[in-house]
Amino acid sequence: MYSIIIKGGKIVDGTGNPWFYGDIGIKNGKISKIGRLHSEAEKVIDAEGCIISPGFIDMHSHSDLTPLINPYMESKVRQGVTTEVIGNCGFSAAPLNDRLREQILETSPMLKEADARLEWSSTAEYMEVIERNGVSLNLAPLVGHGTLRAFVMGYEKRRPTSMELEQMKRLLAESLEQGAFGMSTGLIYPPSCYAETEEIIELCKVVAKYGGIYSSHIRGEEHQLLDSVKEAIEIGEKAKVPVEISHHKAAGRENWGKVKETLRMIEEARGLGVEVTCDVYPYTAGSFGLDSILPPYAHEGGVKKMLEKLKDSESRRKLRNDMVKGVGKWRSVASIIGWENIMISYCKGHPEYEGKMISELAGQKSVDPFDFVFDLIIEEKSSTSVVLFSMSEDDMRRVLKSPFSMIGSDSSARAAYGILAAGKPHPRAYGTFPRVLGKYVREEKVLTLQDAIRKMTSFPAQKLGLKDRGLIKEGMWADITIFNPRKITDKATFTAPHQYPEGIKYVIINGKIVMEEGEHTKEKPGKVLRRDS
Ligand SMILES: [Zn+2]
Repeated sequence: MYSIIIKGGKIVDGTGNPWFYGDIGIKNGKISKIGRLHSEAEKVIDAEGCIISPGFIDMHSHSDLTPLINPYMESKVRQGVTTEVIGNCGFSAAPLNDRLREQILETSPMLKEADARLEWSSTAEYMEVIERNGVSLNLAPLVGHGTLRAFVMGYEKRRPTSMELEQMKRLLAESLEQGAFGMSTGLIYPPSCYAETEEIIELCKVVAKYGGIYSSHIRGEEHQLLDSVKEAIEIGEKAKVPVEISHHKAAGRENWGKVKETLRMIEEARGLGVEVTCDVYPYTAGSFGLDSILPPYAHEGGVKKMLEKLKDSESRRKLRNDMVKGVGKWRSVASIIGWENIMISYCKGHPEYEGKMISELAGQKSVDPFDFVFDLIIEEKSSTSVVLFSMSEDDMRRVLKSPFSMIGSDSSARAAYGILAAGKPHPRAYGTFPRVLGKYVREEKVLTLQDAIRKMTSFPAQKLGLKDRGLIKEGMWADITIFNPRKITDKATFTAPHQYPEGIKYVIINGKIVMEEGEHTKEKPGKVLRRDS
């Protein structure tokens, strides 16, 4: 007797092999039997005409705090995602101290609106809180380097003392012992960006000891791209740690085409025994907080100090000047791609700005775009987000096709209702996985179906060291996505992003049906996964 039998579908098992016919019997949350099944089940799913795939693993997500707002993880579950890797780009939900807790709540209107309380300090406590509240899909946490640094040193722009470095190592080791999957950096974001390569290598040696990975939003994705990939590889080589280059891209027209070189560098590093891979989302725009366009020194000392600088006319002039001319190797993305390619995606106080370009908004008010941006950061206390149209379609396809890339949305889960329906977030929150399978597999044939599925399932599972997920195989956890390969389509756009994809019929997580015929069942069978070494 099975809890679920899936009948009549084509199984694409995640290995990269072509489909085969088989029924799947699920029992106790796991895939118990694959073959021709004639036994009884509480529920029989007719999957005729559909593909049965392992549930998708979102290699790069930011849903760390989302379960506190809405535990159903709607926009991810409805894409067929069953596990999200969180703690990316240098930011994680743990470890926390009072200073960090306050800053997170201060700069997140959505958490405030949800009256969320960050009632944990360690990674283990975070895992407990999330599981106690319940969550619809699985989460695999990384530890953010920025979080570690902010915990120990605040937003100081300097090297850590040896005691501070030791404290960071201790906190990191503690989190890894509690089951974190590795460490991430956000080397364009403060305070992660204040670290020199040596500091990251020292910390990554701790990660390597526990068998974790190093996931990096690298130092620069524009003119610094080649040097930044080189740095990530150097860290992998010296710390003997597996490297994952996050949301790999070349931003800014003058840098388009450089991914040819970076993919070659990855291949070469692998030839020398450094385990480097990358992830990618299928769009040509990125997204981040509006204040990330400021020079790194602007963030020194934290958000309050930054807002003070923006209010002071002298430092404001200097900021403007540095953003136009650059500081050392740093150049503002605003000067690289132009205000006409930067769209406000979330602005709590001015929803009427959402979906509009900064050049347009500043033009309407007849103000200088720099002044417009500085004033908006002050007014919104640094909580505004932007979407940046900065990449080339050719580059994105090239990375998508690379044998070393997997799929990551670079987004938190959203929902088409409630608090998470605010703003015009990057459509990747709703469309990443169906877009790869619809546009880039079915329509444009950039990838084969089995290869795309491999990049969404067994490849990330292998990278993370998840031995019991990512494949349709007896004994694995029953994380399964069933979709119609002729119909699967992303619907979210930059101007109307809160639209769920179509063509996904069932999503099963840990043996429980979480989505059925387009409806979320409101089940919360998700777990916070622990790395087993
Ligand atoms: Zn990032």
